[in-house]
Amino acid sequence: MDSAPYATGTVFLVGAGPGDPDLLTLRAARLIMRAGLIVHDGLVSEDILALADPKARLVSVAKRRSRHTMPQQAINALLVREALAGKDVVRLKGGDPFVFGRGGEELEACRAAGVPVEVVPGITSALGAAAAAQIPLTHRANASIVSFVTGQCKGLTEQDWSGLAGKGRTLVIYMGLASAAQIAEKLIADGLSPAMPVAVIENATKNTMRVLRAPIAGLADLVAREQVKSPALIVVGEVADEPEHSLRELALEIVQ
Ligand code: SAH
Repeated sequence: MDSAPYATGTVFLVGAGPGDPDLLTLRAARLIMRAGLIVHDGLVSEDILALADPKARLVSVAKRRSRHTMPQQAINALLVREALAGKDVVRLKGGDPFVFGRGGEELEACRAAGVPVEVVPGITSALGAAAAAQIPLTHRANASIVSFVTGQCKGLTEQDWSGLAGKGRTLVIYMGLASAAQIAEKLIADGLSPAMPVAVIENATKNTMRVLRAPIAGLADLVAREQVKSPALIVVGEVADEPEHSLRELALEIVQ
């Protein structure tokens, strides 16, 4: 017989994808449906939480940019405490847990406490948004590099984005709404053409999704005028151009 009163539970760091429940992995859906305890972000959609067992305990640790309801350390401590008490914990995070999701910190906290962890990838919002907006992130014609960066104000000035945006390259900016004006300035100061196309994708894959376009010089105006709300991604590059433009250019090439 086991001498411990109960075995340590496992923490499952699960990616919930960008919003549409159809974009969950089968592994994620199965874990959500059988979970007794789900600790989730604010980004995880209601439709996904609705898959949980009605008897499951759902704990929201939603974060807002300026109003952290639960600091990261408290989240780590909660996961560890529940697992050490013998419970399996589904830690459900928007998109992918290891793409700007602080999943790395939760993994380290669990490891340090001797708690077993399983990581389940999710469709990161950049990929979900690109598919839903029909913007190929790479394209044989005009994009052979794609980069993901965070545009959060803190540290924006220290971040070196040189060479990430420009001809033949796609830059996807997470958490960039609040600093849209500084982002545009930074990229243009780095030498990016003010005419470079940008797409802003709000609520990607949800039925409230909007895809808005402008040249990078007009990004801040677009965000303000359209009152774009979080969550939203900013895609910078030729691939973000109006589909009609690319078609027209293609037609011209064929005629010439
Ligand atoms: N781990 C997540 C990212 C968390 S950071 C992932 O892999 O997607 C939070 C940022 O992700 C938001 O500020 C926004 O830029 C982006 N985001 C998440 N879900 C989104 C959605 N449905 N539509 C647009 N952007 C989204």
